[in-house]
Amino acid sequence: MSLGVTQHVFDELRERGHEGLWFGSDPESGLRTIIGIHSTVLGPSLGGTRIRPYASDDEALFDVLRLSRGMTFKAAAAGLPLGGGKAVIIADPERDKTPELLKAYGRAVDRLGGAYVTAEDVGSTVADMTVVASVTKHVSGLPIESGGSGDPSPATAHGVLASIRATSEFLWGTSDISGRVVAVQGVGKVGAVLAELLADIGCKLVIADVSASSVEKVEAVTGARVVGVDEILFEKCDILAPCALGAVFDEISVPRLDCTAVVGSANNMLLTSEDANRLASADITYVPDFVANAGGIINIVEEFHPDGYSWDRALVSLQKIHDTTRRVLEEAAGSGRGTLDAAVFLAESRLRSGLVGV
Ligand code: NAD
Repeated sequence: MSLGVTQHVFDELRERGHEGLWFGSDPESGLRTIIGIHSTVLGPSLGGTRIRPYASDDEALFDVLRLSRGMTFKAAAAGLPLGGGKAVIIADPERDKTPELLKAYGRAVDRLGGAYVTAEDVGSTVADMTVVASVTKHVSGLPIESGGSGDPSPATAHGVLASIRATSEFLWGTSDISGRVVAVQGVGKVGAVLAELLADIGCKLVIADVSASSVEKVEAVTGARVVGVDEILFEKCDILAPCALGAVFDEISVPRLDCTAVVGSANNMLLTSEDANRLASADITYVPDFVANAGGIINIVEEFHPDGYSWDRALVSLQKIHDTTRRVLEEAAGSGRGTLDAAVFLAESRLRSGLVGV
């Protein structure tokens, strides 16, 4: 008998350097999950649970492979004692997400014995993770009152700010960004906090969001200038901070940008890695997204501290993003490599040595 899929899966694992994949099924609750463990070289693989009604098993597999590998690089570049993993559940989060399904998923995570630690992601919430935590201890990002680190978004925003300051030091010789013009695309959970932090330190803000109510709230608090969602990327500014969608930079958008640097939280903001070269050719300093947006996982790591989670300690740890940004920008300038290559090189050298802080 030939299922015809085995070779294809092993090719994919080898190609991307994955340690393993785990397929879980529970017909009673309707659970269909794939857990991808990309690397445990630096520590347990950590990554969120994405719940989506994927059109095919192949699409779900592709997502888990891509996202789990991305987590390895994010953790390694940030200098964290963590590996990269991710889980997908093939289900409609609006319709199929029952406590039974979440518990069956939690039992699947538990069987991996801590090689994979889960968290929330698109389609799953902190409340869902509380249900998962009723059957496994390998869950992070739980509410603060349950001993977790809570919503990671404020930490992500503080991390982006640290990265913007480091970029300012590199470009303009000072971490003082008061008076700088920063354009924020998307003022959701991360973008709104970032906008407030920037306004507090005297930046001139330009914002846009598809949600009129989000824009209104942030405009009222920060006094930001509001522009249309089709204009924000092309505003004249010192720093462009994409905090909404992925794939915003491509061969059409990059030539129209009017910024000096790109530093934001949006995951996978480049359509392809070639767009990093396009940004460099346009003389725009690009801080790779996985460097600037690592605040969420840095915050989560604080849960594993022997004294328990502390926001004050997390705020100190978030400054690692400042140091990583400086290191990547300086390494790129010194070596002639692009910033994306420099960040990947940093992560790969930590993975090769198996050492976190080198
Ligand atoms: P969110 O959904 O709370 O906010 C995104 C905002 O972008 C929303 O307000 C949405 O209305 C807006 N938006 C959508 N399309 C837009 C468009 N075309 N133009 C302008 N605005 C648009 O999400 P979030 O948690 O703030 O995350 C923002 C980005 O940062 C995402 O790419 C996410 O993957 C990434 N990220 C978030 C975290 C975190 O801790 N939340 C961590 C790492 C990376």
